[in-house]
Amino acid sequence: MRILLTNDDGYHAPGFEVLEEIARQFSDDIWVCAPSEEQSGAGHSLTLNRPVRLQKFAERRFAVTGTPTDSVMMALREVMDGEPDLILSGVNRGANLGDDITYSGTVSAAIEGALAGIRAIALSQVYSRDTNGTEHEFGAAREWGPKAIEPLLKAPFAERTLVNVNFPPRPANDVKGIRVVRQGFHDYSRGSIVEGRDPRGHRYFWFGLHAIEHTLDHGTDLEAIDDGYVAVTPLQLDLTHYSSIDTLAGRFEG
Ligand code: MN
Repeated sequence: MRILLTNDDGYHAPGFEVLEEIARQFSDDIWVCAPSEEQSGAGHSLTLNRPVRLQKFAERRFAVTGTPTDSVMMALREVMDGEPDLILSGVNRGANLGDDITYSGTVSAAIEGALAGIRAIALSQVYSRDTNGTEHEFGAAREWGPKAIEPLLKAPFAERTLVNVNFPPRPANDVKGIRVVRQGFHDYSRGSIVEGRDPRGHRYFWFGLHAIEHTLDHGTDLEAIDDGYVAVTPLQLDLTHYSSIDTLAGRFEG
């Protein structure tokens, strides 16, 4: 099995080492192609207004001076010798739960894989003050990653779908199990924008996505993480809201 590894935290991110450790339990045919710098929040963006450069670090190990989507495109079209059987993206440092996924470079790299018809899984380690910076920071992902991926290797993936996996912020032996759940809802409307002055006195703004209020709806990824479970959510690229088609069409009639 040929596996392509990518992420949005950048080639040198600690979670990327964790991902490789996980992937090596399934195969030795590992290819690495990730953004050279952190691209968190890049979503599914493509670099169109400047060239991207490919950096080769070793056999089958590359970085791209672009976004996660650029990296997957480069891997599939320029770098790899044949298509991968699986794309793993992560392990992101931080949650990709609820509506996070629309901003997520980690999930978007997997989306790019799904668009190319390749089985793709995004992996994120939720962090908290308790585990951040400790040996447990990626502990849940390291231990539970293989358990979450293994059943997905043979499971049928419908066309234009992918799977999003989040690990709860607690030591691996405190994780209660794995739940397959739907995407929850975050309220980002009150997300913080920090204002400050740069060294030359000019005003700047810095987006923060912390301290988000959310309701823990039953059966969601948010609830599963809160309960201490690994959250596994199948996602689809078709964003059409089907029940609104007739309603909207009615507004354009007559
Ligand atoms: Mn990230």
